[in-house]
Amino acid sequence: MKAIRAHQFGGPDVLKLEEVPDPTAGAGQVRVRVHAVGVNPYDTYMRAGGYAIAPALPYIPGADAAGVVDQVGEGVTGVHAGDRVYISGTAQGKAHGAYAAYAVCEPAQVHRLPARISFAQGAGLFVPYVTAWRALFGRANARAGDTLLVHGASGGVGVAATQLARAAGLTVIGTAGTDEGLAVVRAQGAHHAVNHRLPSHLDEITALCGGRGPDLILEMLANVNLDHDFTIVAPGGRIVVIGNRGRVEIDPRKIMTKDAAVYGLALWGIPADDVRRAHQAIIAGLESGALNPVVGTELPLADAARAHALVMAPGARGKIVLIP
Ligand code: NAP
Repeated sequence: MKAIRAHQFGGPDVLKLEEVPDPTAGAGQVRVRVHAVGVNPYDTYMRAGGYAIAPALPYIPGADAAGVVDQVGEGVTGVHAGDRVYISGTAQGKAHGAYAAYAVCEPAQVHRLPARISFAQGAGLFVPYVTAWRALFGRANARAGDTLLVHGASGGVGVAATQLARAAGLTVIGTAGTDEGLAVVRAQGAHHAVNHRLPSHLDEITALCGGRGPDLILEMLANVNLDHDFTIVAPGGRIVVIGNRGRVEIDPRKIMTKDAAVYGLALWGIPADDVRRAHQAIIAGLESGALNPVVGTELPLADAARAHALVMAPGARGKIVLIP
């Protein structure tokens, strides 16, 4: 089969399209014919080396994909050849193995993909939507009537958070850094879209909250925004740090005076029971029509290196997806 492999850690050009033996489903496993692969920022951190999860070299990147089950190993029940599925990691590892024509998975790593959702959309479900669900409902105790700031709403996690929060009855303010990104944020149902490149955007958010500030903030770039989040968050507010790319100086007094709480989130550490609940909520939302992953860019699998450069560039507008 065709697969993207990295034989060393480094820049995007370590990603090579190679011919490797087709994997087969062993006992207790299933094989998925991959129709689309989702590209996530962490794929680039892992590729660069020094990420929290270090795969043995050479390795196939990626945890997100969607396709059709085409082999079912001995002893597997509840998953059948022909099932449309999205995956959450592979049997190679929870965070890699998906940039390929076939992926062998544990049964718990395949999830029913409703017919109304395309494979390209299905490739953007696991990492973005489970992260967003966990941030809202597993960490920040999101409740109908809360005002939510999604600080970075035009990318994979931000779109997912916006849709989940709208469906749960929150008022959503989403930010993006380009006109195209702002259009994506509005189209996902955010009540307000604000440009995070403008120095005035924090004042704008405060004004949109009637001076009180957002009850919840999901933060995609904490090294830039965290101290500002403490300034604008509502009294008793909750901030979830989802994305961070460096260090930041903060004034802890702001957390004290706001009686605020700051939560961290690591997708790979979510308790299994919450992961199960997240997938149930995601599938229900896909079926009802509340959740609709946004595919901004489709590229052939061979263009994985280009996709890695793109996912780290400004101007997000939904997911970047590779087609094997
Ligand atoms: P993505 O699709 O690349 O989107 C990145 C988002 O960040 C875009 O909306 C982008 O907006 C926005 N952004 C850029 N500059 C910003 C700024 N100054 N202030 C606020 N937002 C800004 O990435 P993603 O998949 O949504 O992931 C978002 C972040 O969360 C990444 O850093 C990722 O590594 C991290 N993440 C963490 C976990 C975890 O377990 N903690 C799980 C998933 C993702 P523009 O491009 O329009 O400027």
